[in-house]
Amino acid sequence: MTLQMAAGMVPLLVRARMAAGVAHGVPWGISLDGLLASEIRENTKAAARAAGTDYEPYSLDAVPEDLDLPLARCTGDGGDRWHWAATFAYPEDEVLGPNVQYWSARPDQHALDQMSAELPALVSERQGRYRSRVMPLPLTVCRHLVWRAVGDPAAITELLTPIVSIGKKRSAGHGHVLTWTVDEEPAADRWEFAHLYPDGALGRTAPHSCLADTAPAAATGGEARMGLRPPYMHPACRAQVLLPAT
Ligand SMILES: [Zn+2]
Repeated sequence: MTLQMAAGMVPLLVRARMAAGVAHGVPWGISLDGLLASEIRENTKAAARAAGTDYEPYSLDAVPEDLDLPLARCTGDGGDRWHWAATFAYPEDEVLGPNVQYWSARPDQHALDQMSAELPALVSERQGRYRSRVMPLPLTVCRHLVWRAVGDPAAITELLTPIVSIGKKRSAGHGHVLTWTVDEEPAADRWEFAHLYPDGALGRTAPHSCLADTAPAAATGGEARMGLRPPYMHPACRAQVLLPAT
């Protein structure tokens, strides 16, 4: 397990100043490598649209290619099980919760009527696929979200600056980012900034070998099959990993 760094890469603290906080569906924060990868992918798609050329669509059947992120790489346990040197987000100045909002949705009977030639007299709102829903939305209410990373500060700043919102339910106003700052921390321990939250707990998904030499052992969220690098939800990116502490 070693860190592979390009020239100009240093330990970094990436900070998003939030309007109100962020909504998310998993117990841990948003990954910095995931954010950077999706921004690169969006830029690639926009360039392809502008040029009138095709781009490789996201597909569950194809193994996604690894984008070249401006982050160092941890070799993990060698072979294909390497990961980017960045943690998931952790909140600063958090308003302790639980903070849960609920959103509701009901089918538009008029729209169903227009789409279907044989609509039953009553589309039940109480059962079946078209029932009404009331869904909880867990929120992290905080002033800042912070990520530790080892990477190229200028390239990371350039990718993050256009991102105005993160997390779930962005169109409903959640996860609004006011400003991004990327601060260099040249004296910081590179391995720590690639793996751990400030309290010393595991801050990202990582293979066992990453924590094999740590003493005392870092707290983790247990073990499971999950993504090791983006796109985290793609079946081909999943591996048996240690989960971040929560
Ligand atoms: Zn590692």
